[in-house]
Amino acid sequence: MKVFRMIDIHTHTQYSDGIGMIGDNVAEAEKKGLKLVGISDHVHYFTPKRLNTYISEIRQIKKDSEITVLAGIEANILATGVDITTEMAKKLDYVIASAHVWLDPGGIDAYLDLIKIAIQDENVDIIGHFGNVFPYIGYPSYEEYLEIVELAEEYGKAFEISSRYRVPELDFIKLCIRRGIKLTFASDAHIPSDVGAIRWSEKVFKKAGGTREDLLFSELL
Ligand SMILES: [Zn+2]
Ligand SMILES: [Zn+2]
Repeated sequence: MKVFRMIDIHTHTQYSDGIGMIGDNVAEAEKKGLKLVGISDHVHYFTPKRLNTYISEIRQIKKDSEITVLAGIEANILATGVDITTEMAKKLDYVIASAHVWLDPGGIDAYLDLIKIAIQDENVDIIGHFGNVFPYIGYPSYEEYLEIVELAEEYGKAFEISSRYRVPELDFIKLCIRRGIKLTFASDAHIPSDVGAIRWSEKVFKKAGGTREDLLFSELL
C-alpha cells in the first residue's frame, strides 16, 4: 500500500481559499514522505502579475526541497469554456479543470457537457473531482462513462482520484486503466495538515488494478 503514497497533486494555499503558505504544504508533504506535491490554487484569485509571484515562490521552495514540487492551478469549467488563458497555462506545470457546484453545473447532461469541454481544451491536463456532484444530479450510464473515457483517451487527459470527495467511482477508474488514461492522487487540502491525505485515492487505485505506469508524472517519482 505504501508504495503508492507518493503523490498529491491538488493542494490549496493562501493564494486562494486555503489557510497555509506554499512552504507549509511542502513541509507537510515532506513530513508525510510524499515524493511529489502540487500546489493548485483556484485560478479566479489570480491576476497575471500575481500568478508570476506564485510561480516564482513555488520554484524557489522547490529548489530548497528534497521532493518534487509542481506549480499547478485549478481552473473552472464554464459553459463558455475553461477559465484559463493559454498564456497562463504555459507558465504552469499542469492545469486541473473542475466543474464547481457554486457555478451550478446543471443536470447530468449539462455536467457531462462541461467535462467534455474541458477534455477538449488544450490548456487542461487533469479533470478535477469528476463526479462529486453525482449524488445530487444523478449518475451517468455506462455508455456515458465510456464516451467520457474515449474522449479523454483521444485528447490525452488525466483524471485525479480525489480523496476529499471520494470520486471517481471504482468502475470509472477501472475503465481509465483499461484505456491507458493516466490517473493521479488528490487530497484537495485547504489546510496544511490535510496535504498527503490521499489514503482513499491509493486504496481505490490499487483495487482497480492500477500500477505505477498508470500514474501521471510517474517519470518524476
Ligand atoms: Zn474543486
Ligand atoms: Zn480544489
